[in-house]
Amino acid sequence: MTNRRRFLAASLAAAATTALARTSRAAAAPGGKRRPRVVSTWDFGVAANQGAWQVLSRGGSVLDAVEAGARVPEADPNNHSVGRAGYPDRDGRLTLDASIMDGNGDCGAVAAVEHIAHPISVARRVMEKTPHVLLVGDGALQFAIEQDFPKENLLAPESEQAWREWLKKSEYKPTANSENQTYGKGKPGDANNHDTLGLLAVDAQGRLAGACTTSGMAWKLHGRVGDSPIIGAGLYVDNEVGGATSTGVGEEVIRTAGSFLVVELMRQGRSPQQACEEAVKRIVRKRMKSAKDLQVGFLALNRAGEVGAFAIQKGFTYAVCDASKQDALFDSASAL
Ligand code: ASP
Repeated sequence: MTNRRRFLAASLAAAATTALARTSRAAAAPGGKRRPRVVSTWDFGVAANQGAWQVLSRGGSVLDAVEAGARVPEADPNNHSVGRAGYPDRDGRLTLDASIMDGNGDCGAVAAVEHIAHPISVARRVMEKTPHVLLVGDGALQFAIEQDFPKENLLAPESEQAWREWLKKSEYKPTANSENQTYGKGKPGDANNHDTLGLLAVDAQGRLAGACTTSGMAWKLHGRVGDSPIIGAGLYVDNEVGGATSTGVGEEVIRTAGSFLVVELMRQGRSPQQACEEAVKRIVRKRMKSAKDLQVGFLALNRAGEVGAFAIQKGFTYAVCDASKQDALFDSASAL
């Protein structure tokens, strides 16, 4: 099967499972402890979880699982906020951010990297092959090429068309939950597309890993870096406690060191749910007036396999996958 056909088949399968899962979304959110388990942000997290689960359920490591899961939306031609079909910045350049972290503290990330379809795998190489944590821009591209990642022109025709539509007004005004509005529909000019795949996995022994990947805020300034490749902001994982990841307006998450905060709150005894709620409420308190126009969502998983999720606005969805069900999708509770 050609790559393109494989991508189409995968995304159709993902769309079908998402549709099925949606019907049962009203079911109670997963309160119970269960491990191994994989959780991901947004509807496209269903397919990402399944990619990770294939690895984990066959005895693979949590690190291999989260990388495999993150590669699913990165390859999806219908996903305009992650990977190869992401929307570009205001100069029409597609720049990708990604990070990966192991519960033992090892981590790697790339920011504003161009021409590389799987930034999550480059992030892993940064972690494993360099003494550094984060490579950016041209340096990240140079490293990826040295590591034999193919250099590609990634700007998809649909993404370019959307950018040209946006140029007509050139307004930068991120909207909440754009994934819900545009994923799979691919309408050019759906102005302010963003959203991130954040994925966390725990294995049967309580070992954790996480991955985060995004094209960031569409129409951002060239060179803008969001929370996703910043360890402690978009992703943080600690085997002693659990992991957290985020989506939404990255600037707000960086300002509050959001994912680190969620993990530290869990360390102090809060449940994953309570920790996500406190982190979101801090942003709301600080941003009193503008909070109604912002979306930030946190997703957390502790070493026992308990899940928490909370967002500023309604509409943040998250996917949960374990031995009992591989396509569960839930609406997160919200502050507003
Ligand atoms: N957090 C991402 C960023 O700021 C975007 C998103 O998840 O909506 O780049």
